[in-house]
Parts: sequence; structure tokens; C-alpha cells
Amino acid sequence: MSVHSDENCIFCKIASGKIPSKKIAENDEVIAFHDIAPKAPVHFLVLPKTHVTDIMAMDAKLMGACLAMIQSIAGFRVINNCGANAGQTVMHAHFHVISGKMLGFE
Ligand code: 5GP
Ligand code: ZN
Repeated sequence: MSVHSDENCIFCKIASGKIPSKKIAENDEVIAFHDIAPKAPVHFLVLPKTHVTDIMAMDAKLMGACLAMIQSIAGFRVINNCGANAGQTVMHAHFHVISGKMLGFE
């Protein structure tokens, strides 16, 4: 699996270890680490190591690899913000995994 990295991307830098993170799990394709500004007692991010802008640019295999990582970790709510209009601020596709409190659906 070849990893394409964008030198200006914060999540690529985290995925390659250039910027530290509180890592939870990783394999060849996917990394999971704690969100720097958690919105709930448990809030981590799961993303492909290769740089893809959003989930529209991910193929089924990469999507499956991310979801398998999520499945292996916890009980949760999974959120993906796809594109700036949906609130995506870091343009490297990622899934938020949130739990640890009762969540409304506002
Ligand atoms: P988005 O709004 O793109 O769906 O979510 C981006 C998330 O990345 C936010 O929840 C934000 O707190 C998190 N984030 C941004 N920069 C960093 C960072 O440098 N390290 C970590 N661990 N999380 C980050
Ligand atoms: Zn990236």
C-alpha cells in the first residue's frame, strides 16, 4: 500500500509521525488518534494514512479499512463532515468517533 502525503496537510504530518499525536491504533493503511479538542469524553479521529481530501475520494477498500479500524476499537457515534459546506475544516478525510456521554441529535 503506497501512502501519498501532502506536505501542507496536518493529518499527513500526524500520520507520518512528524507531528505528535495521542495515538490509539494504526496499521499500514489507517491511523486512529485522539482529537486535540474533544467534543465528548471520548473523541478520536480515524483516517487513511494516504492523503485523500474527503470521503468522496476514497474507494471501497480504503473506506472498509477505516470502518474496520473503527469497529475494532469501541462503542460510538461515527461522524464524517464531507466538504467545507458540511463543516469539514481539515481537508484530509477523517471519521470522528465520539462516545462517553448521552448525545443529542441536534
Ligand atoms: P472537521 O471539522 O474537519 O470534521 O474536524 C477536524 C478535527 O480535527 C477537529 O475536531 C479538530 O479538533 C481536529 N484537529 C485539528 N488539528 C488537529 C491536530 O493538530 N491534532 C489533533 N489530534 N486533532 C486536530
Ligand atoms: Zn493529508
